[in-house]
Amino acid sequence: MKKTDELRKKLTYERKNFWKEASVKEQKAALNFSEGYKKFLDACKTERESIEFYVKELEKQGYKEIENAEKSKKVFRVSRNKNAAIALIGKKPISEGVNLIVSHIDAPRVDLKQNPLFEDSGTTLGMMRTHYYGGIKKYQWMSTPLALHGTIIKNNGETVKICIGEDEKDPVFIMPDLLPHLARKIQYTKKIGEAVDAEKMNMVFNSIPYPKDKDAKEAVKLNALVLLNEKYGITEEDFLSAEIEIVPAGKARDAGLDRSLVLGYGQDDRICAYTSACAIFDAKEKLDKTAIVYLADKEEIGSDGNTGAKSIFIIDFIADLLKHNGEANDSSTLRKALINSQVLSADVNAGINPNFPSVHEKENAVHIGFGVSVTKFTGSGGKGGSNDANAEFNSKIIEIYNKENVCWQTGALGKVDEGGGGTIAKFMAEHGAEVIDCGPGVLGMHSLYELTSKADIYSSYKAYKAFFENA
Ligand code: MN
Ligand code: MN
Repeated sequence: MKKTDELRKKLTYERKNFWKEASVKEQKAALNFSEGYKKFLDACKTERESIEFYVKELEKQGYKEIENAEKSKKVFRVSRNKNAAIALIGKKPISEGVNLIVSHIDAPRVDLKQNPLFEDSGTTLGMMRTHYYGGIKKYQWMSTPLALHGTIIKNNGETVKICIGEDEKDPVFIMPDLLPHLARKIQYTKKIGEAVDAEKMNMVFNSIPYPKDKDAKEAVKLNALVLLNEKYGITEEDFLSAEIEIVPAGKARDAGLDRSLVLGYGQDDRICAYTSACAIFDAKEKLDKTAIVYLADKEEIGSDGNTGAKSIFIIDFIADLLKHNGEANDSSTLRKALINSQVLSADVNAGINPNFPSVHEKENAVHIGFGVSVTKFTGSGGKGGSNDANAEFNSKIIEIYNKENVCWQTGALGKVDEGGGGTIAKFMAEHGAEVIDCGPGVLGMHSLYELTSKADIYSSYKAYKAFFENA
C-alpha cells in the first residue's frame, strides 16, 4: 500500500495549494506583498493613473526615458499617457531576443458620454449619460457608489484632471436601479443581460437649482455647470472631447477572516501590471537577456487603437532599444529580434467560483490559492482566436517555475464550448515570438469587486521574476 502511494506521488500531477506547501516565511512574504499591491490599486483606477504612478516609480528606480538615457541599462517610454514599456538591458544582444511580459492597465468601466449632462424633465434631477467600456454585466453597476476619474483638455490646451469620490470627504455618485416592487414587468420578464438598458445607465449628478435664479430654464443643469466652472474652470463644451471614467468608489480591501484574499476593482489586469513591474524592479541587475515590461491599454475592447497592443508602439520601442544598445536596427534585425523573443501574456484567468462550478472542468481549471496559472490557450469554440503556445516553450516555462520554486498550476478558461475569451497573447505572437498566457485566477472577473488570492498575487510576482532571470 505504501509503495502504491509512493508510485502515485511520483507519477501523477496534482496542483499544489500554496498555503499547504509554502514555508511559513514564504506565506508571510505573500501576505506582505499584497500591502503594496492594494496601495497601487487605490492609486490607479484608470490607465492614465497607472502610467502616472509608474512614471514616478520609474524615476525612483533609476529608469530614464529612452530618448535621454545615454548609456543607461534602465530605460522606458510612455506613449500618449496611456501605455508604457520598461526595459532592463541584458548582457546578450537584443537581436538574439528579449524576454517580454505584457499586461493591460485598462479595466471594464463606464465612461461619460461626450455630451453627458442633462436635466431630467420629469424629476428635475441633474443627470449624466454614460457609455460602458468593455465586457460588463450592466446590472452590477446599478445602485452602487461610484467615483469620477478623468482628463479634460480645455480649449486653451490646458489639461484638467478630475477625481471625485475617492476621498472620504468627497461626494459619490450613483446610477439608481429599479426597486423590486415595481420591477416585475420591465426587468423580471427579461433575460439578465437585457434587464438594464445601457441607455438607462444615467448617473445622478446634482439636484439643487441655480440659487440666483431657481426658476430659470433647466436651473439644476445650469447649477451643475456653474459648480464645475467654479471648481475646474470648464464649460459644457469641454466635456465633448474629455475622457471621464466612472469606476467603483473606495479602496481595495483584505477579504476573508484570515485576510488571505484581496477584494478590489480593476484587478484584471492591474494585478499583472503590478507584479510584472515589481519583477523587473527586483530582478538581478545583470540579466543575460533584456527584460521588458509592457503595460498596454485598450485590451478590454480588443487591443485596438494606438495605445492598444495591436499598435506599433512596442515594436518601435524594441527597434529603438536595438539602436540604444549600439546594435543594427534595420527591419530584418528587428524581425529577427522579435522572432527570437519570449513573451508572457500576463493576464488573469477565471478561478473556479464555488457558487458556479458547473462552467469549469475542474481538473483543467484555475483554483484560487494554488498559484499562478500557465495557460496554454484561450479562445472559444475549438481554440478559435487563440495563441495556443508551443509545447517546447510551455515546458520551458514550467521547468523554470519548478526550479525556482514558483507555485503554479495549469488552467484553461472554462469548459469546452462554455463561452470563452482572449488575451493579448495572439497579437504578440503575430510578430513571431514564443508566447504563453500566465497569470493568477480571479473570482467575479469584470465585476466591480474582483477577488484574488494573496498566494496567487505573490506567485505571479515570483513567476515573472523567474522568467526574467532564467528564460
Ligand atoms: Mn485581462
Ligand atoms: Mn478582462
